[in-house]
Amino acid sequence: MPADPVALTRDLLRCPSVTPAEGGALSLVESMLKDAGFTTHRVTFEEPGTDPIDNLYARIGIGAPHLTFAGHTDVVPPGDESRWSHPPFASDIEKGVLYGRGAVDMKGAIACFMAAALDHLEAHDGHPKGSISFLLTGDEEGIAVNGTIKLLQWAAQRGEKFDHCILGEPTNPQTLGDMIKIGRRGSQNGTLIVTGTQGHVAYPELADNPVRGIVALIAAINADPLDAGTAHFGASNLEFTSVDVGNKTVNLIPAEARARFNIRFNDTRTRAALREEIERRAHDAAGNRIRWRIDWEPSNSDVFVTTPGPFVAMISAAITEVTGLKPALSTTGGTSDARFIKDYCPVIEFGLLSQQMHKVDEHVATKDLVALTAIYRHILERYFQ
Ligand SMILES: [Zn+2]
Repeated sequence: MPADPVALTRDLLRCPSVTPAEGGALSLVESMLKDAGFTTHRVTFEEPGTDPIDNLYARIGIGAPHLTFAGHTDVVPPGDESRWSHPPFASDIEKGVLYGRGAVDMKGAIACFMAAALDHLEAHDGHPKGSISFLLTGDEEGIAVNGTIKLLQWAAQRGEKFDHCILGEPTNPQTLGDMIKIGRRGSQNGTLIVTGTQGHVAYPELADNPVRGIVALIAAINADPLDAGTAHFGASNLEFTSVDVGNKTVNLIPAEARARFNIRFNDTRTRAALREEIERRAHDAAGNRIRWRIDWEPSNSDVFVTTPGPFVAMISAAITEVTGLKPALSTTGGTSDARFIKDYCPVIEFGLLSQQMHKVDEHVATKDLVALTAIYRHILERYFQ
């Protein structure tokens, strides 16, 4: 009997696995994979000041090629539960729609990949022509320090080698089959700080107002586009997110002004070259009139792209076969755990619809779960030909 992705998604949705709680979700996956012949490992990671987090690695087969499916069983909190038309952990189905926190992000995709893998194994005497594995974490929606990043290091230390990875984040904006993510932009936070001289507003000649300076520098930094985009990416963008003086007094010229910003950047430049460009713009505008500096925050989200080739083409073909659509190859959106996986093997992301993630009444059409399972099933069949 083929594995039922809808029943499996419902079971997972009943597990209250709000980060950092495991909620029974990983245990459910683990016991099913164990029954199917997977070797499973539960690994807990923690750091001072963070919650210990449960992770799961499960593999069947010892040979190459090795296809790993990555994902997270943790979910964001439901918020005010009274605003949900169906309780967030009840797993209700109404008119072909399944409701629950994590339906699209991303317990549904985990269930679909499990169902596809179990079906594939059943059709091939219980053994893949190579290896299938699951890299599942309970720390994606939180600060993401005790999840995929450490699980990958742990696996590498054990000698695990991955040839390709599919991450099951929700990627389709409108319809299942719309979009594969083949990369992600990098992210960089910074704070622009302009220093002046504090004084009385009635005696400006005795002070130096940093507000004038910061306004000029913000304008200069934003004056020209950072670039025009590249083959796989849109233009890099710098967005100021707050401008602060913190001055509660009406007759005081402040001593300092700060402006926070975030840059989402493409593969035009390295992170270092990007920082240089922003500092050059500030420097040119400041001359020796304005005293300024930029504090750059450390970041672990670098730009990456999995250049389209046979692997991406095979996934696209499987999607077209089931949905009739030709998926866009996109690098839009925020960061994901793919930023860590890309250091180990080529990674693409394909899952359910993205509209519903993190929303009240998060839901998935049960027909999408069936179709996604069919797509993953085609992928496995083609991958292990
Ligand atoms: Zn997610």
